[in-house]
Amino acid sequence: MRVNVPTVAPQFLRSRIGKVCVAITGATPAEMLEKANAVVKETSFIEFRLDYLDKPLLALSKFKHFFAENTAATGIATCRRAPNGGKFTGNLAAELEILIKAAGSGFHIVDLELESAESLKKADLQKLRDTGTAIIISYHDFSATKDLEGIYHRIQPFHPDFYKIVPTAKTLTDNVTLMRFIEHMEDHSNIIGICMGDAGIISRVLGVRAGSAFTFAAASTGEETGPGQIAARTLIDTYRIDQVDAATKVYGVAGNPIRSSLSPAMMNAAFRRETVNAVYLALQTHKLSDLLKLVNEIPIQGLSVTMPLKQEIMSHLEKTDPLSSKIGACNTVLRAQDGKLYGFNTDVAGITGPLEKRMSLRGAKVLVLGAGGAARAAVFGVRDKGADVFILNRTAETAHKLARQSGSKSIKKEALAKTSFDAIINATPIGMAGQKGAQVLEAKDLNTKLVFDLVYNPLETPLLRLARQQNIPIITGVEMFVQQGARQFEIWTGKPAPEEEMLRVVIHALRQQAEAVAEAPAPAEKKKKKSS
Ligand code: NAP
Repeated sequence: MRVNVPTVAPQFLRSRIGKVCVAITGATPAEMLEKANAVVKETSFIEFRLDYLDKPLLALSKFKHFFAENTAATGIATCRRAPNGGKFTGNLAAELEILIKAAGSGFHIVDLELESAESLKKADLQKLRDTGTAIIISYHDFSATKDLEGIYHRIQPFHPDFYKIVPTAKTLTDNVTLMRFIEHMEDHSNIIGICMGDAGIISRVLGVRAGSAFTFAAASTGEETGPGQIAARTLIDTYRIDQVDAATKVYGVAGNPIRSSLSPAMMNAAFRRETVNAVYLALQTHKLSDLLKLVNEIPIQGLSVTMPLKQEIMSHLEKTDPLSSKIGACNTVLRAQDGKLYGFNTDVAGITGPLEKRMSLRGAKVLVLGAGGAARAAVFGVRDKGADVFILNRTAETAHKLARQSGSKSIKKEALAKTSFDAIINATPIGMAGQKGAQVLEAKDLNTKLVFDLVYNPLETPLLRLARQQNIPIITGVEMFVQQGARQFEIWTGKPAPEEEMLRVVIHALRQQAEAVAEAPAPAEKKKKKSS
């Protein structure tokens, strides 16, 4: 049967394409089409990675059928070579034949790598142009973000419909370099700019804000076609990329590691619920100077600060609240109306808030396990509310020091069985998913009216299970996580935080993570699969 696919002139393409193009991979045409049929229901802009197929030419009639049936879909045919992160190993003639035939099979755009374009004879390149399909000339740099204008000028002689320039971000400020490059080009509507790598994740949203024609996304988590690529669902639902524009305020969580942080899901959900035109990004960095440059260049309106930057950032802020100064750590930064940066500590409210809902802290006897950053917030926070605090830490000297600084007492493990408390707070990582180490407390040590575990992944930690078994009321680390985030939202926006929505999103994300871990093949099984 003859299948006719209506052609779309390149100048009309812009009105058809959205901000997100979903990359489809698969070992067989059937697998790719199955994924494309699912994706196209929500996102009509699709890149078929033909380089994933053993015999791409044989698959083209099937793709032609797909475009005939999905007339609203816009397709890019890509034959990415191995040095550029793809799987294609054929020669230049084979690559050209695939792209020309793809153009004749209903694809609206073909992606030709700059290196290929530069190697092709003029007459051969003309054959691709004669198909009438739009052309992307793409360039990838897996080592750095450098000489973007030089790359642009190498692409320019080919007069493509789109310039795709994809460097690698080694620092957060590499994203600024990419954004400034896009913004400064006279006509940037045909530039697609993305930084690869974990430090470049933010460019997947900010590139579009700076004017990138569109961005690429993975069909689902685990199907990324480039380092740092985000799943389409996350870009659309969490980051609301379709609504991101030059007026969108930028916030973020900064630290290292940050890729699996639940803060972007929680805070973006809060912005969406309260219809705040803002986006909250994961800012992967361990260098404060890199972060501060980004914060001032974008500019960023507010930050959640995590390890290892909570202490170091304080001396770079205009002022911090008294609790941050006492604790020596700040987890929240606000850019105030005067343009200056101010520091707060909402970890404290994340701990005292849930406790005060259940008890009065004045005169309460509280045991804190640990003497690190979270423990400092707990100790100073409950001391400030008038509690009598005892500290137990693996390294006794650190416990003594914190006790001296905060007017608390340190306590030995042996004394626990004979001492009763109003609340026990775990501020060590014991019980955290993937964390090895023996439980600090046993059943006989839980002489308390309440157990609060700051660890929030898993939802029910071994310590909380032990407490439940003894009918001791508990507070989960998720409650602290949501409360500290809710207070940040309020500091930034001046609006009450949608706490229920934030809690719902975090619990959903934690359950999904737990399911993914449960479904993942055991290490031995994984090994077997790779080598087969
Ligand atoms: P940190 O500064 O590294 O401090 C860790 C503390 O735990 C130190 O006192 C350390 O003792 C102790 N510790 C570490 N491993 C131990 C082990 N195997 N056995 C006994 N004690 C051990 O970390 P942090 O920032 O305070 O965070 C602690 C935990 O709090 C995190 O793992 C996280 O799960 C949780 N947290 C939750 C939230 C939330 O929003 N729910 C926020 C922040 C933190 P030494 O002094 O002997 O090293």
